[in-house]
Amino acid sequence: MPLRETVILLDIEGTITSISFVKDTLFPYVAAALKNYVDKYWNDETFQQDLELLRAQAALDSNIEGFVPICTGNNEKESVINNVLWQMSKDRKNTALKQLQGHIWREGYESGLLKGHLYEDVLPVLTKLISMGKQIYTYSSGSTTAQEYLFQYSMYGDVSHMFVNYFDTKMGPKSSETSYKNIANRIFVNCHDILFLTDVLAEAEAAKRAGCSSALLVRPGNAPLDPKQSSKFKIMKTLDELLEV
Ligand SMILES: [Mg+2]
Repeated sequence: MPLRETVILLDIEGTITSISFVKDTLFPYVAAALKNYVDKYWNDETFQQDLELLRAQAALDSNIEGFVPICTGNNEKESVINNVLWQMSKDRKNTALKQLQGHIWREGYESGLLKGHLYEDVLPVLTKLISMGKQIYTYSSGSTTAQEYLFQYSMYGDVSHMFVNYFDTKMGPKSSETSYKNIANRIFVNCHDILFLTDVLAEAEAAKRAGCSSALLVRPGNAPLDPKQSSKFKIMKTLDELLEV
């Protein structure tokens, strides 16, 4: 059956980008580059803004077990670095941490050390879908800025022009149906005009509850899907299956 939906909404990690790129490349890059970055940009306005957010976050975090405080005085820089490493070890996803990570990634992408991973089927299929009049959006828990860098500095060059826009958890959590309604409202379409593709069952279910179509991607390195729970969705190995009629 030809694709009915006009909007293709893509999850990123585990759907069009390998989980390993995020887990084994992007996050370790921040940990490895952090000290140099902090030294180099300490007096920059952007870093000072990031630091302000980190301090505000630290004030909220002081009751969490193992909390690493940000001090003032001689050990200030070191304490900032240790606080960030602690947050990352807990896989925290607050705005302060995400913003700093985004800025460190930007430097890595701009210097050519990082190149956004995309599965090889992604660009050919998206090109075809765009030629069919489909509009491509992303929805990921990575910030919209981090998403844009991934596409701007992808392993295939700048492919950011293929995407109409990027959404992140400012729309709400990915396992909440309201988020998909928020996205539909934002782009002035009905949920039933949206096809959402993801590797996570709970996200596919939430999109479906909102009235979107959804399908599951199974990529190498993804967590296995529960066969029973996932059987109500179309399961695809590559995006090519979208074009099969
Ligand atoms: Mg995913």
